Amino acid sequence: MSESRLQKIEEILADMKAPPYRLKQAKHAIYESSAEKYSEISTLPRELIGELASQLGDEILSLKNIHEVEGRQAQKILFETFDKHRIETVRMLFKPNEERDDFHSSLCISSQSGCALGCKFCATGSIGFKKNLTADEISDQVLYFKKKNLTVNSVAFMGMGEPFANPNLWDALQILTEKDLIGLSRHKISISTVGIIPGIERLIEEFPQINLAFSLHTPFSNQREELMPITKAYPINDVLESVKKYVLATNNKVFIAYALMEGLNDSLDHAKALVNLIKKQGSKTYLYHINLIRYNPGPGDSEFKRPSVGRVNKFMETLTKEGLHVTLKQNFGLDIYAACGQLYGKYETEGEH
Ligand code: SF4
Repeated sequence: MSESRLQKIEEILADMKAPPYRLKQAKHAIYESSAEKYSEISTLPRELIGELASQLGDEILSLKNIHEVEGRQAQKILFETFDKHRIETVRMLFKPNEERDDFHSSLCISSQSGCALGCKFCATGSIGFKKNLTADEISDQVLYFKKKNLTVNSVAFMGMGEPFANPNLWDALQILTEKDLIGLSRHKISISTVGIIPGIERLIEEFPQINLAFSLHTPFSNQREELMPITKAYPINDVLESVKKYVLATNNKVFIAYALMEGLNDSLDHAKALVNLIKKQGSKTYLYHINLIRYNPGPGDSEFKRPSVGRVNKFMETLTKEGLHVTLKQNFGLDIYAACGQLYGKYETEGEH
């Protein structure tokens, strides 16, 4: 695992025999001020700044914004890591309440560049695996906005990659939630997984306040194996056992993501099987919340189709009639290809901007 920026700074401070309060000052300058370069920090001695810049490079952030698109309610940023891999981050704005003027801003961040898991319908999966992001590269997607004085109310790991497949996730969560670093409340973070059981178990142990979403997409094992090959390693029922443990241990709601694709997983049989699957989950099924998503076709041709509103409503009705909690997710950012499953990193479609 690569060393984080703070670990390197601690070593530099130790080598220079700096007093302990210098670390506090460095953390403040990095995580609380708008400084984007070490050379802009005025609270640390020149000699120390020089050492930081020479050992770490002058740029504080580990990511460079190389392209930005703004839609009606979403802003998508294409970042590049120093080793030239691309990731996308999306900031979405929505009104929590029509009566109020303020906006809630939610960030959808990436955990990997590309993804190795190859879910058939996923734009990110189609580019293959490029790299696991470091803890800094993950948390800097949030720090970038903080440095620009743009509020981030919540963060969802729903961008590129499977968060639990990246061992650096845990250090990133530490940076995101520690008070003197990014300082986000754990309740404002959500992790979306295709069902990596060891990750769910570790979340229960170490970050039980963090929200969990399980991307199911079909209640039928055979079909899920076809669509999402990870099912062979972590079968649906085993993952749901682990999700149940999370629910019982935390009393948190759990989100079951289901992207509806026409003619594939939007039939009445699918809806009924989904109801049965959820109802089998024991005494706290009221904490299971189904997030339906109308599949978003990516930029190229896709064999997977977006279902009509009528089909979506019918599916939703079957679930709600049976007492399940269901929400149809609004497709924020569809106009700029920033909705779920569309993060593509522009690897193959365009060159550098
Ligand atoms: S849906 Fe998630 S796990 Fe599957 S290929 Fe896409 S990014 Fe990877």
